[in-house]
Amino acid sequence: MLSYQHIYHAGNLADVQKHALLAWMLAYLTRKDKPLSYIETHAGRGLYQLDAPEAVKTGEAAQGITKVLAGQGLAADHPLHRALSETRKAHGAAAYPGSPLIAASLLRPGDSLHFAELHPQENAALRAALKPWKAKVHQQDGFELAMSLAPPDPRRGLLLIDPSYEIKSDYARIPGIIGQLHKKWNVGVIALWYPILKDGTHKPMLKALEAQGLPDALRHEVTFPPVREGHRMVGSGMFVVNAPYGAAEEAARISALFKAVSRK
Ligand code: SAM
Repeated sequence: MLSYQHIYHAGNLADVQKHALLAWMLAYLTRKDKPLSYIETHAGRGLYQLDAPEAVKTGEAAQGITKVLAGQGLAADHPLHRALSETRKAHGAAAYPGSPLIAASLLRPGDSLHFAELHPQENAALRAALKPWKAKVHQQDGFELAMSLAPPDPRRGLLLIDPSYEIKSDYARIPGIIGQLHKKWNVGVIALWYPILKDGTHKPMLKALEAQGLPDALRHEVTFPPVREGHRMVGSGMFVVNAPYGAAEEAARISALFKAVSRK
């Protein structure tokens, strides 16, 4: 039974870190005139309204993307701005693109897009949000989908793994899954998002990921105050295999952005 709904958290500081790095990597990969595959294991509904009661209730977007945009912290030519403005032009000033819409906005007609989303309502909303694009939306376990597609055609490309970690065994399973996916798809960029938790629950997963010696691995983490008193999440992380050239420099720019936001 899935209860997680990303609308409560869309546009929060974790999304800003994940989406800024994702958008930058996708824009980088599209510099070459060769088609790409983009796969997401845990897609969500793709399109959020930050003035929806759920988003207003938590106030996470107000402390996240809204604050970042007010401070003009993202470079004017950052690809996340491109995805945001395209989404807002189509869906209004409070709209926020989830990772599927960021990818669809930044990729090209010849690229191939696959999304897994298990929750029936989120899946239906995702299909509607992606109508303008030629994307495949699957109502299937995301890890199974990734395993069945790897290596995808075209072979160049990026896989985003963004679980809600509702199933605690995900932390233990993920390093093995990423190792297997890399074996099947050695040129694929594999990006994993994870929460930084006060009690360190995420740490053994990172240790196991790093112990595999995967090529061009990038670990990027930012910390921020918990959204509510007693909340376990105190930061956000991305672990990327085959990180594109320049991703570490982009990660450093994102870290600087977080320092600037936390001073305000
Ligand atoms: N990637 C999205 C973004 O950045 O906009 C957010 C995704 S949200 C953190 C995780 C989503 O995964 C939820 O919508 C949930 O319903 C879905 N989900 C949970 N378990 C899944 C599974 N095993 N396979 C596919 N989707 C799953």
